[in-house]
Amino acid sequence: MPLEFTKSTKGKDQLVHDGFIFNKDYAKSGKTYWKCVNYIDRCKGRAHTDGERVIHHSDNHNHVPQAALIDSKKVMAKIKEKAATNIEMTPQQIVATETAGTSQATVGVLPSVTAMKKTTQRIRRAAEAPFARPTSLTELDIQPPYTMTSSNQSFLLWDSGAGDRNRILVFSTERNLELLASRNSHWMADGTFKTAPPLFAQLLTIHAIIFNTVIPLVYALLPNKTKDTYKRLIEQQSTQTFPQASKRYD
Ligand SMILES: [Zn+2]
Repeated sequence: MPLEFTKSTKGKDQLVHDGFIFNKDYAKSGKTYWKCVNYIDRCKGRAHTDGERVIHHSDNHNHVPQAALIDSKKVMAKIKEKAATNIEMTPQQIVATETAGTSQATVGVLPSVTAMKKTTQRIRRAAEAPFARPTSLTELDIQPPYTMTSSNQSFLLWDSGAGDRNRILVFSTERNLELLASRNSHWMADGTFKTAPPLFAQLLTIHAIIFNTVIPLVYALLPNKTKDTYKRLIEQQSTQTFPQASKRYD
């Protein structure tokens, strides 16, 4: 019979055998030696495994089998799995579904509903996080779908490139650029510093007046507010985004 395992709260494998749970003690000569999780309370229960078999269980535990604890660990494992894979279910639904029908004894050792929902939310946030948070502008790697709009149009217009310590990102759509080009005598730019994402110093937006409304059409993330950065942005915009305009101002 294959070995049965569960996870500790820190994510380590724990052996489940005959209703008891064991932590790994040490491995030697191809065998693994396990001690009952209650060893802290002086339980002397130990188990030895060799490959897929339990070859020894010193059944001298100072407590009854931990069926409820094992059940609760199974429930928690299911909740964690669903949190990561079943995105259409709310944390409330996941916790309610997985705890339905569990015994009073199991409920007794499960964390509170609030704690289980928090665990679900934490796992979901981690699963949805696109990538590890970069610590510098040179490390940023913008890949689809983050280069696209929600309607699947190309949105990342210009990226000054990985490795650039003064990284500039410009976002817009083809349609927005057409609108901007058609209103090129009435452009406005506005820099905001509060809403710039981490690592960037400012979000610069270029607006045009369309049907008497000021509409942001281009979004540029800038690393600082130096003259050099503005110059780079304007040069890039005029040579690549609006080549017609640059010809006109030659
Ligand atoms: Zn024990």
